[in-house]
Amino acid sequence: MTELLYYPDNEYQKEFESEVSKVKEMDNYICLKETLFYKEGGGQPADQGKISWDGSEAEVVDVQKEHGEVRHYIEGDFPEPGQEVHGEIDWERRYKHMRMHTAQHILSWVALQEYDATTAGNQIHEDQSRIDFKPVDFSEEDVEKIEKEANALIQKGLEVRKKEMARELVEEQMTEGRTNLDLIPESVDPLRVVVIGEDDICPCGGTHVDNINEIGRINIVNRVSKGENVERLEFELEE
Ligand SMILES: [Zn+2]
Repeated sequence: MTELLYYPDNEYQKEFESEVSKVKEMDNYICLKETLFYKEGGGQPADQGKISWDGSEAEVVDVQKEHGEVRHYIEGDFPEPGQEVHGEIDWERRYKHMRMHTAQHILSWVALQEYDATTAGNQIHEDQSRIDFKPVDFSEEDVEKIEKEANALIQKGLEVRKKEMARELVEEQMTEGRTNLDLIPESVDPLRVVVIGEDDICPCGGTHVDNINEIGRINIVNRVSKGENVERLEFELEE
């Protein structure tokens, strides 16, 4: 099993040392004993970056958890099993994902508070992200209100805490409808949660900023109706 160095609360480290535990050159991937590279999941894309050793180098183009292992898909040189390597994540890309992901949590929280809208899905990108809400039918005014309240929250500069929490406590403290805990296998306990300020507790495996003032400003740029009672909001961030 690969140790995930960014858990539960180490999202600002950009470089690490590790050892190659598996090489599958035919399938273009390697596994490491530990990694800082985020594997795609929870609507957040994988990290990219590079690994290097003894004058050789490979680009990490994708990271996926498959068959219980974290596979780093690489292009370039291939190391041997047991090789000590230096890893470096593409920080610009990762930091945008962190800001976007925390912004998504804030929008989901505000929409739940104001409209009882639950988050049915989300997809983070560097430039534009989206959230699907249901059951809801937003008007233009509603969308403006969500954007305004989310940005007012950001102005407060609330701290974002990432930690492990007993499943029972999460069930007790999480606002109803914030996420569907039934979708997370019972065996996962404790859960890794993201807590914004004092109120918004949400199980999440993504990478997040430490303070919501790092997000900048949220601009909701589009509202799309995705069928009965499902609304998609697309948003961007300003520095
Ligand atoms: Zn999340």
